[in-house]
Parts: sequence; C-alpha cells; structure tokens
Amino acid sequence: MANPNEVPKYTQLFINNEFVDAVSGKKFPTINPATGKVIAEIAEGDKADVDLAVAAAKKAFHRNSAWRKLSPLERTALIEKLCSLMERDKYILASLETQDNGKPFTSALGDVMFAIMSLKYYAGWTDKFFGETIPGGDFVVQTRKEPIGVAGQIIPWNYPLVMLAWKWAPALAVGCTIVLKPAEQTPLTALHMAALSKEAGFPAGVINVIPGYGPTAGAAISEHHDVQKVAFTGSADIGRIIMQAAAKTNLKRVTLELGGKSPFVVFDDVDVDKAVQLTHDAIFPNQGQTCCAGTRTFVHEKIYEEFVKKSVALAKARKIGNPFETTTTHGPQIDEEMMNKILGYIEIGQKEGAKLQCGGKRAGNVGYFIEPTVFSDVTDKMRIAQEEIFGPVMSILKFSDIEEIIDRANDVEYGLAAGVITNDINKATKFANNVNAGSVWINCYNAVMPQAPFGGFKQSGIGREMGRDGLNNYLETKTITTKIV
Ligand code: ADP
Repeated sequence: MANPNEVPKYTQLFINNEFVDAVSGKKFPTINPATGKVIAEIAEGDKADVDLAVAAAKKAFHRNSAWRKLSPLERTALIEKLCSLMERDKYILASLETQDNGKPFTSALGDVMFAIMSLKYYAGWTDKFFGETIPGGDFVVQTRKEPIGVAGQIIPWNYPLVMLAWKWAPALAVGCTIVLKPAEQTPLTALHMAALSKEAGFPAGVINVIPGYGPTAGAAISEHHDVQKVAFTGSADIGRIIMQAAAKTNLKRVTLELGGKSPFVVFDDVDVDKAVQLTHDAIFPNQGQTCCAGTRTFVHEKIYEEFVKKSVALAKARKIGNPFETTTTHGPQIDEEMMNKILGYIEIGQKEGAKLQCGGKRAGNVGYFIEPTVFSDVTDKMRIAQEEIFGPVMSILKFSDIEEIIDRANDVEYGLAAGVITNDINKATKFANNVNAGSVWINCYNAVMPQAPFGGFKQSGIGREMGRDGLNNYLETKTITTKIV
C-alpha cells in the first residue's frame, strides 16, 4: 500500500551489478516537492563514474560475454522476471515515485503498471527483428540486425519510471548494454530498478545507473567515445547540447524526445461536457508536466463561451493536496525552479492580454503547488501559446473553420502530438493528415501505448520510441554478401 515514509534502500551508484559510492565521494539531496524536505542523500556520479560504468557496459557487450551468449528467449525470460519483481514491489516503487516526484499515488501506481507493460511488450521482440535476403544474381545478399553496443540513456523527472522502461526495454530486447542517468530530481525509482535487475539475473555490466547532474554525468555520457548511442528525453535546449556532443565526439547515434506545444481542437458538433473533460484530462494530470500535453485548446467559436465556463469549473474542482491522500488529484510541481518558471509564464500571459479565468497563484507556502489555471482569449502569437510552460496552465483559443485551424495548429516550432474532437469523419481525417505531429488522437488524448510509435516532428525530437520503430534505435544493419563460386 501507499507508504509516505518508504525509506529508499538504494542511494549509491549502480555499476557492474554493485552499489558503490561516487569516485569523488560527493552526494546530492533528493527533495520531496510536496514538502520541500530532503528524502535522501544520493551518490553524485560524474565523469569518473561514467567512465567506470561505460567500461563495465562495454565488457558486458563483448562478443564472448555471458549477456551476448544468451539466446533471445533467455533475454525474454530476464525481462519478464524483471517485470514480475516490479509487480511484487509495485507499492514500494510507487511510494518512492510519489515522494520523489510529487505525483498522486494512484498516478504513480499507474506509471508502475505502464512501465511493466512497456517492458513486457518488448520482451516479445527479442527474436522478431529480422534481416532480409536480397536478390543479388551470383551473390547471396543478406542483412542482419545487430545490437548497436553500449547505449547511453538520459531521462527526465516527469515520468521517471516510465521513461526508464521506455529506454531499457528495446535496448535489452535486442541485446545492448546500458548506462542510464536518471534526472537529478528523481533518482530513487531508477536505483530500485537497478537492484531488481540484479535480482532478476541480468549479468554484471548490462545495466548501470549513474545518478548525477546533466552538465557533469549527462555530458560525460553524451561525450563518451565508447557509447554508441544516446537516447535522451527532456528539453529542446539540452537536446541540442547532446546532439552537438555526439557530433563532436564519436558521431554516436542520437534519438531525442523533446518538448511540445500540442494543439487539441474541438469542433462544434460534439457533446460539450465530454469534450471539456477530454481537454481537461489532456493538460492537467501530472500537474501539466507531460511533454505531449494538449496545451493549446482550440475551441469552435459557436461553443466557446460555454466551453470556457465549464473548463473553469473542472479546473477549480481539482483537489490539491498531499499526493499520498487518495482524494488528491493535483500534486506539486517538481521543484521551486519549475514552480517559479510557471508562475512567470502566468504573469506573462496576463501582461499579453489573455484573460485569467481561474487559478494563477502558488497554492499554500509548503511544497511547490500551483493552482490549476485557465486562460481564455489566448491568441496565437502570445508566448503562452508558443512556448512550453510545463505546468497546470490551460490556454483556450477560438477558431472558426477547418482550413484556418490546421494552419494555426502547425504554427509553432514543436510537433509532438495533436488531438481533435468531432463527429465529422472528414474533418477528423483532414486534420489528422495535415497536422505536423508525431501522434494524432481523434476523440481521445494521451492514448499512448507500448505498441505505438511515439516521437516528434520538428523541434519535438528525432526518431521514434516504442512499437517496432523503437527497436531500430538500438540496431545496426549489416549487409553480408556471399559470392557463389
Ligand atoms: P527538464 O527541463 O525536463 O528538467 P532537461 O532537459 O533539463 O529537462 O533534463 C533532462 C535530463 O537531461 C536530466 O536527466 C538532466 O540531468 C539531463 N541534462 C541536463 N543538462 C545536460 C547536459 N548538458 N548534458 C547531458 N544531459 C543533461
């Protein structure tokens, strides 16, 4: 069950199947955003530790290693064992996640289950990435899909466990080895997962976890010459730094899952109450800290006034409080810096002329809570309609026809997701086919599934995670040509 006092058992770096202190001996605090209090002191990895972890991962990837000698079905069994241990420890994992991240416990438990689903999905892929036989006349031409090697993985704090599962699952399925850096705000569940991976039986060096800061530990991963691929989820600014680091060093492969400013379009032929609920659920869960959140709600002018009124009522009904209480639906933002950044955007929105309908302030003075906030009368060029806020701020814009709305929906630098609510199949299809977004949801939102590729157009990223596409990030194609003599 939920345990607000769950004490993290693992606070050191995880290298070569052992928990160890940082070479520097340094530690950093991880803080509960609901209380502002330190939960634990965590070993702080940097370059020296990343070097050790990469060396262990490289050794574990050697062609004669225990890991490389496993059959595909043995890799499946290890991933499935890890899933069953997560199931056993689900309340521990969720309790750690809620303490570290602040999300309501029921959401944290949902995240554990989604992480398990993602790992299970890829557990079935270990023997299903095929090469081809290609006609070559007097030659037999074949391709083989091979694991890329040591994979560096740098993840954010908004869905710590889910992001870890999205990174580990395809890498393990194809036989890569891993050096993962969790976000400095949320290292706890990654360390617990490290312990579970050892218990499941993954050979030493296959999985390494190095908590630490971005410019030190993160940079050491993205600059390392023995890391063949880096998978990153986070902000576009850091995505650029990581790509540069890869380009300047060994041209490691890079996949990036970055921010968004996703449009969610509501036509006037819909059940307004249902649409209000859908658009509310597209932005407010996880306190608005979701990269694909529907942050630009475009509502048809015929239903605009009613829609705004009902959206405000729903936002006001969110229950802010201790995330361990079962009635709480709205927890704190991740840290003070993010809270202040969001409050700054709310101020900008008001100065730009958007109408603050509700919320807008910090809630209480303990922890980093912000009242669910709704702006109406938002226009396209306002900063709150262009830039990622990453907080509980709904911006409602008005539109009148399909052609106009497609252009406006596309008029941002991002392209992660989009949604449309209508009963008109022509409008829905036209919108879905023309919007620049990696995922388009029709009459639903945030319907993210392990089997469906996820990723961004434009500055929302490079590459796709999940689904069959997600495997390719961890594979190289080798062409083998045999002359028939
Ligand atoms: P957010 O804005 O969501 O905090 P960031 O992009 O800042 O996202 O961070 C996401 C992840 O990237 C974190 O694990 C963070 O430590 C890491 N990171 C930050 N700066 C760098 C960097 N210069 N190089 C590599 N990783 C970094």
